Amino acid sequence: MFSQGSEINIADMIEKRVINKIKRIVGKEYVHSEMEERVCYSYDATNQRYLPDLVVFPADAHEVSEILKLANEEGFPVIPRGAGSGFTGGTLPVNGGLVLVLTRLNNILEIDTENLIAFVEPGVVTGDFQKEVEKLGLFYPPDPSSLKFSTLGGNVAECAGGPRAVKYGVTKDYVIGLEVVLPTGEIISTGVQTAKGVVGYDLTKLIVGSEGTLGVITKIIVKLLPLPASKKTILAIYPKLEDAAKTVTMIVASKIIPAALEFMDHSAIVCVEDFLKIGLPEDAEAVLLLEVDGDPYLADKDAARIREICLRCGANEVETAEDKKSEENLWRARRAISPSLLKVSPTKINEDITVPRNKIPDILAKINDIAKRSELNVVNFGHAGDGNIHVNVMIDKKKSEEVNRANEAVKEIFQATLELGGTISGEHGIGVTKAPYFKMELGDLGVEVMKRIKKSFDPNNILNPGKIFQD
Ligand SMILES: Cc1cc2nc3c(=O)[nH]c(=O)nc-3n(C[C@H](O)[C@H](O)[C@H](O)COP(=O)(O)OP(=O)(O)OC[C@H]3O[C@@H](n4cnc5c(N)ncnc54)[C@H](O)[C@@H]3O)c2cc1C
Repeated sequence: MFSQGSEINIADMIEKRVINKIKRIVGKEYVHSEMEERVCYSYDATNQRYLPDLVVFPADAHEVSEILKLANEEGFPVIPRGAGSGFTGGTLPVNGGLVLVLTRLNNILEIDTENLIAFVEPGVVTGDFQKEVEKLGLFYPPDPSSLKFSTLGGNVAECAGGPRAVKYGVTKDYVIGLEVVLPTGEIISTGVQTAKGVVGYDLTKLIVGSEGTLGVITKIIVKLLPLPASKKTILAIYPKLEDAAKTVTMIVASKIIPAALEFMDHSAIVCVEDFLKIGLPEDAEAVLLLEVDGDPYLADKDAARIREICLRCGANEVETAEDKKSEENLWRARRAISPSLLKVSPTKINEDITVPRNKIPDILAKINDIAKRSELNVVNFGHAGDGNIHVNVMIDKKKSEEVNRANEAVKEIFQATLELGGTISGEHGIGVTKAPYFKMELGDLGVEVMKRIKKSFDPNNILNPGKIFQD
């Protein structure tokens, strides 16, 4: 059931006397060595499992610092964890060690309505934070589809994106400062709480998206926007997949920037409808889910233009959500795609390639060709507005021949993505699952420079070891 790490005896990795020291740092009720707790923290959304030796819930940066100092003295790995919703195995203790769960650091410390910034702890759930700022007429746009459970710390560590990235950008565009406990246990503040600041290297940007390899984030300063006055949600239904892809290019070329431009192919539509039963068109080859926001007059005008483009490109139906409930239903459908896919087959290899937006028709054609040649069921959906397609290769991991075929297909898809000027990950990161492909995009020197940076932050390689820099 468990992969590497499971057989390690707890006394081999973290001795009892060390566990006692950890109990003195955080309090014994926050240190778990029981098998039930270790199992609960042995997996993430990749559904791979590696058993940790210990699960610890610190209360603040000081406790995190003491644990990291001890880890350096005693030589055990530390793996930071938020909600464990990552899609690339970032929280998996591949070499065993201590899983450091940051969910007790869950305070919104301040929402500064004069400077439009907020100070938050990493364990705050993204959707909860959004609701709090919206009560004050403010807006925190990054909206991973996991927003109801993922944490801001996890979002920062992965530089999460979401449907609104097409207009508003991703997590890194909102993080202006951090408090970080370095792997050595030292605590630093990076960035600013001002509208600008250029003193020294931009350590904030380096740490955002570093997947918990350079430090443990214990405080986050984000900038906020005024909440848009209105929004409209539109569903466009297509009998032909390539027409939906063409629509994305046409909308962007028409200089309309929707707040969201999401795409689902036929298999994704069928899975979600089977899961939620909310009346999605199961005979369609593709749908686009779009949102426009802003001043009511302009939002109406953009919605009308989008409707016209969708119809011109081949949509046979374009619906605008009439009320909050139908709008929420459409977004619920979008957020349900990922979990609903497991009905198709027990394992999904979930990739999140991103191509220049005008290359979406090309990459979809290539993916379909690779899927056909490899005799694999591939379900595509994603943030089409920013060229980010979630490619899900549906297999049964118990069938090794199928797994090999799927791995070959993924490699081909990555190759095609890079040839079109794209990237192998738009938002999910590298973690464990994409580590074998890291060099395809960065080359030997690119990876070597990153290894040097990791070493300068973490000389003893104790924080999240064995992740993105695996050879
Ligand atoms: C249904 C579903 C939908 C999703 N949709 C999206 C989407 O639309 N866009 C998107 O970008 N992602 C999406 N994801 C992936 C995932 O939710 C994001 O990567 C999210 O940011 C992870 O947050 P988390 O709190 O679960 O972090 P975890 O999974 O616990 O951790 C992720 C990484 O961050 C590190 N980490 C966590 N907290 C800290 C900290 N405080 N300091 C340092 N490192 C830390 C971990 O070590 C790990 O490497 C989705 C996942 C699911 C299951």
